[in-house]
Amino acid sequence: QRRDKIRNFSIIAHIDHGKSTLADRILEKTSALTQREMKNQMLDAMDLERERGITIKLNAVQLTYKANDGEEYIFHLIDTPGHVDFAYEVSRSLAACEGALLIVDAAQGIEAQTLANVYLALDNDLEILPVINKIDLPSAEPDRVKQEVEDVIGLPMDDCLLASAKNGIGIDDILESVVKHVPAPDGDPEAPLKAMIFDSLYDPYRGVIVYMRIVEGTVKPGEKIKMMATGKEFEVQEIGVFTPKPVSKEELTVGDVGFMIASIKNVSDSRVGDTVTHAETPTAEPLPGYRRLNPMVFCGLYPVDTNDYNGLREALEKLELNDAALQFEAETSQALGFGFRCGFLGLLHMEIIQERIEREFDIDLITTAPSVVYEVQLTDGESVRIDNPAEMPDAQKVESVQEPYVKAEVMVPNDFVGPVMELCQKKRGDYVDMKYLDANRVNIVYELPLSEIVYDFFDTLKSSTKGYASFDYELIGYKESRLVKMDILLNGEKIDALSVIVHRDTAYDRGKNIVEKLKELIPRQQFEVPVQASIGQKIIARSTIKAMRKNVLAKCYGGDISRKRKLLEKQKEGKKRMKNVGNVEVPQEAFMSVLSMD
Ligand code: GDP
Ligand code: MG
Repeated sequence: QRRDKIRNFSIIAHIDHGKSTLADRILEKTSALTQREMKNQMLDAMDLERERGITIKLNAVQLTYKANDGEEYIFHLIDTPGHVDFAYEVSRSLAACEGALLIVDAAQGIEAQTLANVYLALDNDLEILPVINKIDLPSAEPDRVKQEVEDVIGLPMDDCLLASAKNGIGIDDILESVVKHVPAPDGDPEAPLKAMIFDSLYDPYRGVIVYMRIVEGTVKPGEKIKMMATGKEFEVQEIGVFTPKPVSKEELTVGDVGFMIASIKNVSDSRVGDTVTHAETPTAEPLPGYRRLNPMVFCGLYPVDTNDYNGLREALEKLELNDAALQFEAETSQALGFGFRCGFLGLLHMEIIQERIEREFDIDLITTAPSVVYEVQLTDGESVRIDNPAEMPDAQKVESVQEPYVKAEVMVPNDFVGPVMELCQKKRGDYVDMKYLDANRVNIVYELPLSEIVYDFFDTLKSSTKGYASFDYELIGYKESRLVKMDILLNGEKIDALSVIVHRDTAYDRGKNIVEKLKELIPRQQFEVPVQASIGQKIIARSTIKAMRKNVLAKCYGGDISRKRKLLEKQKEGKKRMKNVGNVEVPQEAFMSVLSMD
């Protein structure tokens, strides 16, 4: 039976341990393609993209592999996103598999994302096949890393395969191991349809392309299907698989992993984790594990040039077509004018969107400091969710404030335990646990407020551990904290876009810090500008930006003209990211500086 020959698997790894390199090797082996043919096939696929108007995202490829037993197997290699912001998407991609190749660098050993990925794979009952990669490196210590895999993950060290993805060593063993150890999918092809969406993307010509795994039943073109979470119904136009080029199929059935096109206009109608079923004969229960993605981090996006406001709206609308997790609504700031409050899965997601708006839509942005979502109980018994510090009610109206917490795992060599704990402590962390991975490396577990890590935690961690730390976290829920709103005043005027929520115990230090920082960042103006931090009516810190002494150009007076022009250009460049707030020119960095700790 054909289904016995299907193997669905992912590759999971800490960043840089060799996932992409191994995927390339596997693609070469299985499609019996040389690299040049591979490139050509990709180019074909791109031609096809032009011809048929279909966008290709290589995250579920069908491959054929002739095994040592003489049989031909169908592999579906499913790619997973590589960042903690997208943990839910990773978990759904893994849910589409029966097994996972766990890559561990033979010189680095297990890192934070190795463990995070293992947890996700175990949650989804996957067969995990450990592979120690980069054994060609002089610094490789495969035996030590094998031992680590056994001690830390609990997989027998003898099960570890040794490989060098770079030099093509051990690839055949890996493929044979997939055949032997990854279970074939099971399920009833006659049952009502249950297919899980693990990704989708918007294609301007064909509408949404849904990536899905058939768990039960069979689906064919022309059929009417229903998305169980949203209740939306569509007619299937085309189904198929990527080889990597898209190949149409008559049907997709149990165990198959492929794509579906069904005149879907918006990715929010094909949500990751949702179950696709037939509209007329639906399945009784959707697949488990569906979650609606909620943004965790919010910030204000404002055009530097107010004329770009409509352009910014259009950009956000376009991006939203392809990004079910992106949220936005119009917002007005006294300081910044008209803009949008936007919600993101995390900081990386936020940075990606900002960059795309600036690059693809050519709009210069002022972005306010990212904020988490606070749950605030008011003294009148009501409760509100606040994602913008400026909207935090005055302290006397607030009964209590809860903020999101994460469980963070940091892995470092022994020598850096001190600096890591110091950092976590400074970020209001609660110590949970510390475990030795081997004689030399430690896994440190802390619970930390999400607000303390969204900004510069990872950078600080890297620099205080000389780059040796690896880090991962997951959300664990809300906890009460003694938080207050701190306002910032420029020239006596409260600037809403600079308000920040801080812990009471550190409010004075933070206030002092912020006003000093702003003094450095805001260029001198024609007049003296006082910078103040206040809690309620009370000023808790103050500094002064001195008035400009002389015109910059005065320096060049009599000097050569090209230097003068350069200076003017430089000034103009600097101006691009300035916003007139009241009558003070404030640069982009100032809006971020309220979160920086040092
Ligand atoms: P990913 O982040 O897990 O996808 O890692 P990549 O596949 O991009 O690899 C990260 C780096 O490690 C690249 O510079 C690769 O060339 C290198 N690399 C991958 N596999 C091996 C290997 O087996 N041996 C050596 N020496 N380098 C490797
Ligand atoms: Mg990669």
